[in-house]
Amino acid sequence: MSAIRIFAAGLNHETNTFSPMVTSLRCFERDLAWRPGEHPPEANLNTAAFWVARQRASVSGYTFIPGSCFWASPGGKVTRQAYEFMRDEILGQLEAACPVNAVVLALHGAMVADGYDDCEADLLAHVRRVVGQDVVIGVGLDPHCHLTVRRCELADLIVLFKEYPHTDYVERGQELMDLVLKRVAGRISPRMSLWDCRMIASFPTDRQPMRALVDHIQSLEGKNNVLSVSIAHGFPSGDVVESGARVLVITDDDKAHGDRIAQDIGVRLYEMRGNTVPQFLEPNKALDSALQIASTSDKPITIADTSDNSGGGAPSDNTDFLHLLIQRGVKGASVGPIWDPLAVQLAFDAGAGARIRLRIGGKVCFASGEPVDAEVEVLSCVRNATQSFAGAPAALGDAVGIRTSGGVGAALISARCQAMGVDLFSNLGIDPTREKILVVKSNQHFYTAFAPISHHVLYATGRGLLATDYTRYPWEKVKRPIWPLDSAAAGQLLL
Ligand SMILES: [Zn+2]
Repeated sequence: MSAIRIFAAGLNHETNTFSPMVTSLRCFERDLAWRPGEHPPEANLNTAAFWVARQRASVSGYTFIPGSCFWASPGGKVTRQAYEFMRDEILGQLEAACPVNAVVLALHGAMVADGYDDCEADLLAHVRRVVGQDVVIGVGLDPHCHLTVRRCELADLIVLFKEYPHTDYVERGQELMDLVLKRVAGRISPRMSLWDCRMIASFPTDRQPMRALVDHIQSLEGKNNVLSVSIAHGFPSGDVVESGARVLVITDDDKAHGDRIAQDIGVRLYEMRGNTVPQFLEPNKALDSALQIASTSDKPITIADTSDNSGGGAPSDNTDFLHLLIQRGVKGASVGPIWDPLAVQLAFDAGAGARIRLRIGGKVCFASGEPVDAEVEVLSCVRNATQSFAGAPAALGDAVGIRTSGGVGAALISARCQAMGVDLFSNLGIDPTREKILVVKSNQHFYTAFAPISHHVLYATGRGLLATDYTRYPWEKVKRPIWPLDSAAAGQLLL
């Protein structure tokens, strides 16, 4: 095995093509740009396949050659210059590493750049050109990817996270690596079956009916020639030709069996349409419900402000909930995270303990709402603050906790990130367990940490950038018909 050489790298962005925010190279350099020698020891959601490939090298006895890993917070289109720069950096490293037996890539899978609607397929085509047909290419993807036909044709193995929240990223990385090593050793002959569900939807896996389907696909793996089953949720805020949910089954040279499973899972998924997500309440109604429940509870009620979730490319500076809580005189409520680097800087200048008049949020775009002007106490100022997600730290940049004179708290951050850990608040001087209401800007990743401390979790959709009703978006590129933009849409086997 010591003669085996494996190169790994990562390139990640979830591009909201409806977002007006430009994603430049600076965004990647600021959020996550790890060059060889700079990779941290701990696992990371966005570089899981890379991390596992590196970690397994000494155990499995192959030579590991690291490339660069990039990730930027979800946002609008990536600039052509940024994408080509990162792609070419990785390709240069790969060329220098050759000959290799395998290439492992940690990709998100929903990156769209100026001139590139399928960045991942473009990258894979270049990788294939460099290494040739016989080298194994293994890819780890986020389920919120556009699982295009071209990618499946270019890679030998593709494994997606199964859970949403994505708490299983290390396990899926291990599975990908198991399969890559078996393929390198010539012990398996992977064949892909890809089913297109013709639907755009969101699929949290901690609720039924999705929970049972994920358990089912997991039960199929490892027997009857089934190597891996993945459900690509698709990214509902990315308008490309192949947007939408798909099912990928990889068999050990048993295509007909894989085709049947892919179709069966795909049909089951389509039958769930409209039933995979919780009820979304308009902000005032969500607050009504929360206040009513809170009157009989000693634990917080958590409201997810899903339409301003930076995890889907929204700015995370919409102020509608903050305005509502202040207007309605709610005491013991906190909102977070609100992305406002300027307000953070002003609060830092004043220092912890200061009382200042501060303008908060409402700055980035049409979906940000009006800024809030309030007299606030600066509770804490933290340089390079973090929150936790599945045991790993997520960067918030410089951040402050503030509370208005009326009793409404907020976590203000300078590196755009969605709510994931309860320490988003506690690290900034707000004890989340003592609040009556917590409003978190997230769609689903908050759930694992916040549900246990909450009496109840409510989901709201407001005037933020992200739609829960996908017919609201000005779609141009997605292939039609597709549910829910069209009522009748028939799934089909693509590979
Ligand atoms: Zn995702």
